[in-house]
Amino acid sequence: SPKRLAQLLSAHNTRPLFDSLEAFLFDCDGVIWKGDKLIHGVPQTLDFLRSKGKKLVFVTNNSTKSRRQYAIKFQSLGLSVTEDEIFSSSFAAAMYLKVNNFPQQNKVYVIGGEGIIEELQLAGYTGLGGPEDGEKRVQLKSNFLFEHDKTVGAVVVGLDPDINYYKLQYGTLCIRENPGCLFIATNRDAVGHMTDLQEWPGAGCMVGAMCGSTEKEPIVVGKPSTFMMEFLLKKFQIDTSKMCMVGDRLDTDILFGHNAGCKTLLVLSGVTTQSTLQDPSNNIQPDYYTSKISDILELLGQ
Ligand code: PLP
Ligand code: CA
Repeated sequence: SPKRLAQLLSAHNTRPLFDSLEAFLFDCDGVIWKGDKLIHGVPQTLDFLRSKGKKLVFVTNNSTKSRRQYAIKFQSLGLSVTEDEIFSSSFAAAMYLKVNNFPQQNKVYVIGGEGIIEELQLAGYTGLGGPEDGEKRVQLKSNFLFEHDKTVGAVVVGLDPDINYYKLQYGTLCIRENPGCLFIATNRDAVGHMTDLQEWPGAGCMVGAMCGSTEKEPIVVGKPSTFMMEFLLKKFQIDTSKMCMVGDRLDTDILFGHNAGCKTLLVLSGVTTQSTLQDPSNNIQPDYYTSKISDILELLGQ
């Protein structure tokens, strides 16, 4: 079917869109902040949306923090956002286990950050591994047998800047030696803004390494997978046609919104440029696009 090209948000189309919406789902990096810097006009925009009774939800694929840690980050940037409004891929990994009745006595091996370990703990699970695990350089001596905990029933992989060969062997053994072991990826973002100035390899890099050694594909719990959406819809019970997913990435955010039947708005304040959006090879089109979320205020004459 011919793809419908994204419309530039304008004084003409913003009002009817705005009036039709009950909730805004905001991606975080590239929409609310860039690294640790708030994007222009965000506090006023969120305040305005709340004053008009719109429900706000924040959905991030960055697994390095827990919801508790994100609430602190929002507050430190002067935004009043509470934990129950935040859905991070670290939280999604723990909720996936919970929803699927993963036994509490089984352990979870984590290649990733503290955010995942904390969410697992809050959900009643024991996470092994994490940032400090392993040795920088494993000694591959003859007769060396690598031992792993046989009660591990799931491996969760997210961004891990301290990934090493030890962790890869640990996760690989858990999955290859136990056919029932779950292989969960928080997200598969190719790159992310680890610093304000530059993109670095994202969790897709660590997940890809584990796909290579296990010859398996993971269950992805972050965007664009439907798990996170179904989970948050159960909490908020809003008709998806009255929700708008606002994000800066086509292959995660916009697809995530599309798949659920939400309206979608791409902002150019993050990783996607107008030329990428309009490139003939791009087949993911949001309903609307604009430069940043505070344009909504201006276009509504606020
Ligand atoms: N994962 C990591 C490690 C990141 O640093 C980022 C962005 O900086 C992301 C994922 C994407 O996060 P979001 O979904 O909020 O754009
Ligand atoms: Ca983003």
